[in-house]
Amino acid sequence: MEDDNRNPECIVIGGGPAGSTVSTILSDLGHHVMLLEKSKFPRHHIGESLMPQTFWTFKRLGMIEKMHKAGFTPKESVQFVGASGKDSQPYYFTDRDPNEWSVTWQVKRDKFDKLMLENTREHGVDVREGTQVKQVLFQGKKAVGVRTVIDGKETDVFAKVIIDATGVNALLSKQLGIREGEPGLKNAAIYAYWKGAHRDPGRNAGATLVIYTPDKQGWFWSIPLEDDVTSIGIVGKPQFLITGRGDDLMAILDEEIARTPGIKRRVENAERISHAYVTSDFTYRARRIAGDGWVLCGDAFGFLDPIYSSGVLLALKMGELTADTVHEALEAGDFSGERLGRHGTKIARGMQLIRQLVYAFYQPNFSFGAFNKAYPQFHDQVVRLLIGDVFDRDDFDEVFKHVSETAVLPEPIVLEGSHAA
Ligand SMILES: Cc1cc2nc3c(=O)[nH]c(=O)nc-3n(C[C@H](O)[C@H](O)[C@H](O)COP(=O)(O)OP(=O)(O)OC[C@H]3O[C@@H](n4cnc5c(N)ncnc54)[C@H](O)[C@@H]3O)c2cc1C
Repeated sequence: MEDDNRNPECIVIGGGPAGSTVSTILSDLGHHVMLLEKSKFPRHHIGESLMPQTFWTFKRLGMIEKMHKAGFTPKESVQFVGASGKDSQPYYFTDRDPNEWSVTWQVKRDKFDKLMLENTREHGVDVREGTQVKQVLFQGKKAVGVRTVIDGKETDVFAKVIIDATGVNALLSKQLGIREGEPGLKNAAIYAYWKGAHRDPGRNAGATLVIYTPDKQGWFWSIPLEDDVTSIGIVGKPQFLITGRGDDLMAILDEEIARTPGIKRRVENAERISHAYVTSDFTYRARRIAGDGWVLCGDAFGFLDPIYSSGVLLALKMGELTADTVHEALEAGDFSGERLGRHGTKIARGMQLIRQLVYAFYQPNFSFGAFNKAYPQFHDQVVRLLIGDVFDRDDFDEVFKHVSETAVLPEPIVLEGSHAA
């Protein structure tokens, strides 16, 4: 870079939750980090409902007070609404563990991501917005830098470790040809925003609702944000949601709302305040998490599915684990893929637990209501899965043994260069 001829130790590409987390922690650990983000924040992003286990990463980042002050909607439950429109009993996170960390937030992502990126700057990271990375530069098999564009001029920057946190763009895994879709979870989503949608009173006012369409071909999310704005989206297979339905996305959304009682009654007196957005093919994973001189972090490594709102949690957790691994690599002066991917198995294991529950959700014979009735002894474990407590204790075998009585579960995630999860 022209105004800083000292090469950073690490370059982080992308300033979403994963990029800001990994940079902030690395900077706190004493490293010189440069973060390159192509957009200028604030910018629109989907992914508004957080899981309670994000608390611990926020704490490490020094974000708790900022989150409280930001005015985000507190979330302490998730509630499933059946195909008939009947509300089921909410899962209250605070019933299980009545503590500060059991209440999380529904966040407007433009505001949340900006808050996170500002925090990153405050922690000493050299953050460059409006700076797109075109490619990662290699010497042989080792990543050594990035080619970026500043004021229309191509500029190369070099570092010991390149961390790709480019989200769904997945810059490096596409460059290396190691990104793979997940055929069992090929979904699309259409979403928009309403003002004045109905909210249940009391502590359910901040709940994420998951509402099946009558034929269970799709499901709606309803996420209550601040200023009485609600994010509402439908998820389903592209063949159901998109193919042959024309290009008027709003008409598709309206049609699905009209035939789904659980969402229809919540928006009938509300005003729509945005156009409809569409996104598809968002479930994929890279075959490996790291190589010589590079690591993938957050959605740039992989994304599961929106159903349990796990994306930001996984991005934050990967940010944290990646930072610790890269710190150790910098201390040891060892930038081999083996060293930089040491946290891969832990991430794959945590993801696999949520992934199994995602597969179960999409199968016709599985339902949370029926599972709870049949196995009330596993209520605690189910809530722990729903809050994202999947990284530090692994006592879910019995739960999934019984889930597999009504749902076919996926094979473990196997990462090249790591053990099976
Ligand atoms: C339909 C849908 C609904 C979802 N709902 C939820 C939810 O309710 N809760 C939840 O937790 N998650 C949800 N997610 C997932 C969530 O959006 C992501 O998991 C999360 O944003 C991942 O964070 P990240 O930092 O890895 O990537 P991102 O947040 O995507 O950040 C990546 C950043 O990299 C930048 N970038 C990209 N390419 C380049 C480049 N070449 N050079 C420089 N910068 C670059 C981008 O501008 C962006 O700012 C949802 C996802 C989908 C598809």
